[in-house]
Amino acid sequence: MSEAKRFLPGAKIGVMGGGQLGRMFAISARRMGYHIHTFSPDKNGPAAQLSDRATAASFSDEAAVRKFTRTIDLLTFEFENIPAKTIEWASSKPVVRPRGEILLIAQNRLREKEFLSAAGFPVAPFRKVASLAEFGRAAEVIDRPAILKGGSFGYDGKGQERIDLGTDLESVWRERDDEVCVLEKRIEFEKEISVIVARAPDGTMAVFPVCENVHRNHILDLTVAPARIEEKVAQAARELACAIALRFDLVGLLAIEMFLKSDGELLINELAPRPHNSGHWTIEGCVTSQFEQHVRAVCGLPLGATDLLQPTAMVNLLGDLWTDGEPNWSAALAESNVHLHLYGKRHPRPGRKMGHLTAVGQTQDAAAASAIRARSSLLERLPATREEQTSFALR
Ligand code: ADP
Ligand code: MG
Repeated sequence: MSEAKRFLPGAKIGVMGGGQLGRMFAISARRMGYHIHTFSPDKNGPAAQLSDRATAASFSDEAAVRKFTRTIDLLTFEFENIPAKTIEWASSKPVVRPRGEILLIAQNRLREKEFLSAAGFPVAPFRKVASLAEFGRAAEVIDRPAILKGGSFGYDGKGQERIDLGTDLESVWRERDDEVCVLEKRIEFEKEISVIVARAPDGTMAVFPVCENVHRNHILDLTVAPARIEEKVAQAARELACAIALRFDLVGLLAIEMFLKSDGELLINELAPRPHNSGHWTIEGCVTSQFEQHVRAVCGLPLGATDLLQPTAMVNLLGDLWTDGEPNWSAALAESNVHLHLYGKRHPRPGRKMGHLTAVGQTQDAAAASAIRARSSLLERLPATREEQTSFALR
């Protein structure tokens, strides 16, 4: 049965997408003896740099997609925003894990919310908005403040807009390109949390500890693990994650972002059928990292233990840190519990995820304080290097 097929070290794994998630997946997979071939529109991106082989071509280049899939045994994804046609072309030969249908649901907010609510999972009240008239009707039934979100291919808060009672709906709608959107109630949450679950082809599941996430300008800023929440809430979050993975008949990794309200209620915000930024801390914080777990799950190997090693915190490093020149790496690593991850991106644009820092500690607070301190010290002025001092002395 091809569904339960196992891929042992030496097999060729293809990865669609070429960003940092693919890079860290490739590091884990190659360490375990797999061959990695990435497919991405970018040449020499974060994943390509660490792959055995990289194809740089457009997702709409059918010949390139088909050629790529002929070189691999198994296909997986580090990025869900892949056109449906591309997934179809790519699915002709290799085993595809997770299934393409899961990507198609997760890449579109409306499909995702409809799937979740039809299956009885808790989500914020929402309505489809495909016209100005529909927008008006949705704004009548969804309490404001609300958020208008673009339907597909959104990330890091792109395409999101707050809608208040006084907002002029017509002018908001005029700015949109007739895209199908979702209007959803703005939730007064106490915390944002996320859970990552892995499911193997034989149905076994392993859930990582629940972590809490702080966003800044809609971009993940800080993750602290394990989440500082009541155990019964953590248990409910893990159960929700497993139930969704089961409902999807998932093989691979699924990250679930949730809002925790002050009354303990959990609402599901978003799904990602792949490793997730809020799981980077597992590299240092857990017995098995999310990336190794992804490899194990899609290859049909036994899943690794997800036990916490130590409280851990992760902060993202955005391109803004490069505004005044190269960050001070040695200052950031002054505390020996801090670890640096850089993604090999050459152009540090503001808001672009360039890397992250992870800190372990005795407690979540200690780990978070270390990670935040380390990031702040990146902006400390660099002391003159020996060469600079020498050249200055010679002048
Ligand atoms: P993205 O695909 O950009 O990650 P999200 O829907 O996860 O989109 O939104 C990004 C962030 O915006 C969330 O993590 C949360 O902080 C905030 N946000 C999104 N939807 C809501 C909502 N309904 N209520 C309150 N905050 C929200
Ligand atoms: Mg999100």
